[in-house]
Amino acid sequence: MSFDAVVAGSGPNGLVAAVTLAAAGRRVLLLEAAEGFGGALRSAELTLPGRVHDVGAAVLAMALISPAYRDLGLTFADHPAPQAGDQSRQAGDRVQQTGDRDRAQQAGDRVQQTGERDRPADVVFAHPPVAAAHPLDDRPAVLVHRDAGRTAEGLGRDAAAWRASVGAAARAGGPLAETLLAPLGWPKAPLAAARFGVFGALPATVLGRTVFRTAEGRALLAGMAAHSVQDLRAPITSGYGMLLAASAHLVGWPLVRGGSQVLADALVARLRALGGEAVTGQRVRDVKELDAPIRILDVTPRQFLSMAELPPGYRDRLRRYRYGPGVFKLDWALDGPVPWRDPQVARAGTVHLGGTMEEIVLSEAEMAAGRHSPRPYVLLVQPYAADPTRGGHTLWAYCHVPNGSTVDMTAAVEAQIERFAPGFGDRVLARHTMTTADLERFNPNLVGGDIGGGAGSLGQFLRRPVWSPAPWRTPLPGVYLCSAATPPGGGTHGMGGYQAARLALREHP
Ligand SMILES: Cc1cc2nc3c(=O)[nH]c(=O)nc-3n(C[C@H](O)[C@H](O)[C@H](O)COP(=O)(O)OP(=O)(O)OC[C@H]3O[C@@H](n4cnc5c(N)ncnc54)[C@H](O)[C@@H]3O)c2cc1C
Repeated sequence: MSFDAVVAGSGPNGLVAAVTLAAAGRRVLLLEAAEGFGGALRSAELTLPGRVHDVGAAVLAMALISPAYRDLGLTFADHPAPQAGDQSRQAGDRVQQTGDRDRAQQAGDRVQQTGERDRPADVVFAHPPVAAAHPLDDRPAVLVHRDAGRTAEGLGRDAAAWRASVGAAARAGGPLAETLLAPLGWPKAPLAAARFGVFGALPATVLGRTVFRTAEGRALLAGMAAHSVQDLRAPITSGYGMLLAASAHLVGWPLVRGGSQVLADALVARLRALGGEAVTGQRVRDVKELDAPIRILDVTPRQFLSMAELPPGYRDRLRRYRYGPGVFKLDWALDGPVPWRDPQVARAGTVHLGGTMEEIVLSEAEMAAGRHSPRPYVLLVQPYAADPTRGGHTLWAYCHVPNGSTVDMTAAVEAQIERFAPGFGDRVLARHTMTTADLERFNPNLVGGDIGGGAGSLGQFLRRPVWSPAPWRTPLPGVYLCSAATPPGGGTHGMGGYQAARLALREHP
């Protein structure tokens, strides 16, 4: 059978590209090198039988906020966290068509489609009672709630700083998020984007020291900005932190009920329902193997360089592309919840460990300089706070390490957890660790353990992977890149795939 389009790689970008093409009536073949679909969306029994762990992405705010999933025909449901005294919110999952989500986001509410209730949703987003917590040594943890006002109130003297930075981004809502996720297009919300840029362009250290005044506010900002996997003294690290924090207010920081794999499987099922084919265990080694007018590659520049003969100018530009630091990933099976010193932390889906802003800045600077921090910033997710279907208390975490690091960071990461949860070690039934090399073996797009498909510096925010109004297009006719190495970069938003597929559809009518 002949195909109109072949997509290589089934991360969120490859999957969104494939479904977008199939939904436009094209005959699509999706080839995945691994034995399972999903790339960094995969889930697996990494520790004990029956324990479901997200190997890669766990908190999928970026999928909910992204316009890419809008027209794919999937149904999403929100499973809100039970709140004390709020019976209505426990009533069950609220189903919504992905096409209506943007409207819902803008209204600051979640829609429920009439008549959709009886149909099980393709993907249920499970919300923890608290989006994120940031424990501190000598005082209560700082909490990020779905509600921006409540979060600001908890910051005391920094309430106004939170409202002016993150709160303003959240109030600008879907149009601002859409602008930031499609950075090379004309902004949908130019005023909000300009306002966001005033703070967002700054290094997190500058925003933290000039606008925020309390240890709590500064620590919270640093913990958010550190998701950028950069030295926090670098430009635009504030922007990463503000966008992420604003997404907690806009759509929450949910996990997928049953594991992130459920979203990948739903996309594959949708592709097949649209007549597409999807095959695992098929590594594409040369673009010449792909026989179709449209060929979309969910790979990063280093892989692309080995897969194609490219014109020298473009080849040299790809060679200048830089990968960012890597991560050391841990998963645990526990016999109960983490015994946090501050019990409020138990209600959070995501926990930022690392203490004060100064400590986090130091640990990220060490990592950026090629060293291993003895007290690393740790990003931790407790799925059981939102999703009881993971086979028990499972725990997920990573810390940042230099690209290609071979150091086992288990002791340093567990020491950071013990610091805020004494007795944690007694809860561990089994653990699974992945060095940067293990991650790259699992998924070749995680070059040197870089989970963002390339450094997220200002330069590569603009030049991803090359400077171009259409960076998804390559000089090879009909060949497009769609991975996290294309705008807008890392995350489960699927926007690289969406943009590449739409460009291909326009250029191959
Ligand atoms: C440990 C970890 C934690 C993360 N946490 C989060 C999070 O909580 N929230 C969030 O939003 N994001 C998170 N991310 C980032 C996010 O998952 C990635 O940015 C995103 O998955 C990138 O999508 P992608 O489609 O570009 O590539 P990937 O998801 O990396 O998938 C690429 C796929 O292409 C396949 N492939 C590669 N080369 C070939 C080839 N030659 N032929 C065929 N197939 C090929 C690979 O096997 C893989 O399946 C995390 C990532 C990791 C690794």
